[in-house]
Amino acid sequence: MNLSLSDIREKFSASLTFKIFAICFLSTHVPLLALVAYLVTGFRSEALPVLLLVLAATLVGTILCLASVWRLIKPLHQVANVVEAYRSTGAVQAVHSSRKDEIGVVTNGISVLIGELDATLSQLRRQATTDVLTGLGNRRWLKEIASLEVNRAQRERTPLSVVVFDLDHFKQINDQFGHDVGDQVLMMTGATIQHCLRPYDIAARIGGEEFCLVLPRTDVDAATAIADRLRTQLESKMVGPLPKGRVTASFGVYHGDPNSETLKTMLTEADRKLYAAKNAGRNRVHAEVAPSIRDRRIRA
Ligand code: GH3
Ligand code: MG
Ligand code: MG
Repeated sequence: MNLSLSDIREKFSASLTFKIFAICFLSTHVPLLALVAYLVTGFRSEALPVLLLVLAATLVGTILCLASVWRLIKPLHQVANVVEAYRSTGAVQAVHSSRKDEIGVVTNGISVLIGELDATLSQLRRQATTDVLTGLGNRRWLKEIASLEVNRAQRERTPLSVVVFDLDHFKQINDQFGHDVGDQVLMMTGATIQHCLRPYDIAARIGGEEFCLVLPRTDVDAATAIADRLRTQLESKMVGPLPKGRVTASFGVYHGDPNSETLKTMLTEADRKLYAAKNAGRNRVHAEVAPSIRDRRIRA
């Protein structure tokens, strides 16, 4: 086997064992080298100066060894900080080592793995909270996000309304025109919602053909106007073979009181209004204000 100098250098730079060996070898031989140099240059070979020289050289060798080992494992300290930062705060910090030995490989590998792990987790989180068909959030996402909005509304003393709506006679669309057309209607509904809402509004598909909006800083009148705009938008849409006006929805609007009501209570109340709208003939908006807010308004 013919090894050139560059091959040897390459092997040396890729081998941690070799580097550790070299550090240990050189450090432990510093006293010997110093002694040889001292004697070769013709100085006195009395015991005390020789002893002092060997002691000084041992100290230098130890410091050399310590500094080299510290430099050798420095990337491991950095990667340990990166792992700890990710574990405790979720922050992804990049670290890169240009070294080719095992420490360089581990450092770069862990850095890449943390990046990939974070991307995969984000994707899984998105998949777990997003409805594939409409691109809206799902019920789980709604509970997480909207509860924060209820807390914020309570803290900032701002109004908050929830809207629950359900497509009318949707089963008939599936039965008459097929499931694919039904899916197209759901996709169109998702797109229409996203088009109608403000950036800070929250929208989710919470059932087969049931949707929910959580509208921060919105009182009952504004929420009713938004629901009615959405209702007319849906009614005006053409989907596949469906005649215009075939897609309609019934809406329940509830202006909740974040001080005394949870998101669950507000959704139940909005649901009640939705069923009132269904019973009243569908394709309409029914709204209600929390009794505590109504009382406050009357007293003011
Ligand atoms: P109502 O006006 O009283 O709400 O009547 P409806 O027919 O809309 O309500 P119903 O609960 O009887 O039917 C809902 C239908 O929604 C039944 C179900 O097959 C359909 N559905 C649920 N999820 C999906 C879906 O993802 N795609 C399609 N195409 N249909 C779905
Ligand atoms: Mg329905
Ligand atoms: Mg339904």
